[in-house]
Amino acid sequence: MKQELAKQILLVYPNPNLPFEIYADASDNGIGLAIFQNKKPISFFSQTLIGAQKNYTTTQKETLAIVKGLQANRDILLGRKIRIFTDHKNITYLHSANPQTVRWRIAISEFSPELNWIEGEKNVVADFLSRYPVMEEVEELIDFNPYQSYAIQKDRIPVFDLCPVDYAYLKIKQASDHKIQSKLQQGQYSLKLFQGHQLIIQKTSQGERIVVPESIQGNLVKWYHEFLGHPGITRLELTIRQHFTFKGLSTVVENLVTHCSKCQKVKIPKKHYGYLPLVSNTTPIPFILSQ
Ligand SMILES: [Zn+2]
Repeated sequence: MKQELAKQILLVYPNPNLPFEIYADASDNGIGLAIFQNKKPISFFSQTLIGAQKNYTTTQKETLAIVKGLQANRDILLGRKIRIFTDHKNITYLHSANPQTVRWRIAISEFSPELNWIEGEKNVVADFLSRYPVMEEVEELIDFNPYQSYAIQKDRIPVFDLCPVDYAYLKIKQASDHKIQSKLQQGQYSLKLFQGHQLIIQKTSQGERIVVPESIQGNLVKWYHEFLGHPGITRLELTIRQHFTFKGLSTVVENLVTHCSKCQKVKIPKKHYGYLPLVSNTTPIPFILSQ
């Protein structure tokens, strides 16, 4: 059962050149947002509603879900092609006299998304997420100010641009790693072409994995941890192992997560972080199950 659960939430590495499909929804107690590319999950965001938020209208809650979800995934999404799917028709019409809703809409428009209405029954992924928030809100929710946020963003290098897993860069780093080179010569590793770049891979029981050179192992693990929104040890390791391998991967992951200051502040026990409850048989989640 636990294995099954872990499998369902494995996330794939995002491709900045493909459109991001976003599903948002809200329930009485929570809001949720799921990001997909080619029907494969990239990132999940979900949050418990607190205080006055519980009294919001459905449209307000769902708008909040989109604002918070976009903000949480800002480094992945800003400047990319985004399609938001919502089952509340109101959101796709950009008119409201409520100043708060107007502010939220300004915040959303910064991402220039395409808004699409879908029937409620098709929005099972986000609906599912919002009814089972995975993480309690830690900081006090402040009223979102898009102008202030933009000022911060201008001086900041998006995490996405610092991604250490670019193929060309990996190739250069592999070439200067003596241990990798000697194992390649001994026949323990082999070569494979990735988008025009010949990289050194290891054939594992799970399939072919790119061998990560020692010089970028720490950065790679750190990048994934921040990029995925601070997952726990198990999920972080499983996600990285979908594409990569290197000796001591588990130890590097464990050290990073146990020493991450942001993770220490999370109130909920780590074993719950990022894990979704079991899917009921009567509620198919086609995108995830089709993997
Ligand atoms: Zn962390």
